[in-house]
Amino acid sequence: MSEPGVTEPDQQELAKLRNGKIFVAGHRGMVGSALVRRLDRAGCENLLLRTHSQLDLENQQQVLDFIQSEKPDFVFIAAARVGGIQANNSNPAEFIYSNLMIATNLINAAWKASVQRLLFLGSSCIYPKHAPQPMSEDSLLTGTLEPTNEAYAIAKIAGIKLCESYNRQYGTDFRSLMPTNLYGPNDNFDLKTSHVLPALIRKFHEAKTNDSDTVEVWGSGTPKREFLHVDDLADACLYVSCLPGFVYTENIDQRLSHLNVGTGQDLTIAELAYKIKDTVGYEGNIRFNPSYPDGTPRKLLDVSKLNGLGWKAGIELSAGLRSTYDWYLQNQ
Ligand code: GDP
Repeated sequence: MSEPGVTEPDQQELAKLRNGKIFVAGHRGMVGSALVRRLDRAGCENLLLRTHSQLDLENQQQVLDFIQSEKPDFVFIAAARVGGIQANNSNPAEFIYSNLMIATNLINAAWKASVQRLLFLGSSCIYPKHAPQPMSEDSLLTGTLEPTNEAYAIAKIAGIKLCESYNRQYGTDFRSLMPTNLYGPNDNFDLKTSHVLPALIRKFHEAKTNDSDTVEVWGSGTPKREFLHVDDLADACLYVSCLPGFVYTENIDQRLSHLNVGTGQDLTIAELAYKIKDTVGYEGNIRFNPSYPDGTPRKLLDVSKLNGLGWKAGIELSAGLRSTYDWYLQNQ
């Protein structure tokens, strides 16, 4: 039995990765740092990493020069401008511009430099607000999006379509993974810009430390969300990059344009809040504040495709919350 959060990828394909040069864009973020840990563990030693000040991914010429001179064999796009409901809702221009530029610059440069394989990461918010639940890959572009994160979602949909179009026209091997809501080490715990899970860890921890009698949770508490530990996502990234025969086909039924990755289970924000309250050991009250937006009512991913290809999430939410809270205590 392998340990939770580790699924062995195809060994022949993994050998190619081990022998190649791998560029992880966004290696300092929550996703990129988890990916670096996973690649490291898999014996991939030739990692190409650049900080934001060394390489501006929104600058087309810089990205092109960098990819053409370094000639990586594999590219993982873990870089993105991300944020919670409030940040997305208040800064749509920044979210659409940055994410479009990052995806366009890297995907086009990867094609020009004959990169063997690229993995693009999106998000479950690409699916319509009222898509049937759980949301399968086929729901893409079947309805209108949730308005609070429409700008971000459009940029991520463009990323999928860029990969698909380059595969179709140029025969590249550019793959896309759409993760559900993520959490884990190196998450953003800033209350104005973060997602719900790190925000609640911080709010409950501070309330416990300051002896406050109430913690405010935004919205009605009724929306449902699915949470995937970032180490599980990193494992899925390696697994999917090592899937043999993931090629563009004209047959839409066989085409693996993009794959969902999640746990297949969700819970209400209220249930999440009580779980985090227990994890932190806070004994006061919770007050829901409906003057904040709820966002989309539910976004549970249908993960049957990826499960059918042999990958399943391994980290239980309770264990993931515990280890993330421990990380927060050590790094806050
Ligand atoms: P979303 O999944 O794109 O909607 O992004 P979030 O993770 O930011 O929000 C998920 C849900 O949690 C929404 O219904 C929020 O209103 C709710 N929520 C409750 N308390 C908080 C909080 O303190 N911060 C954030 N970001 N969301 C919260």
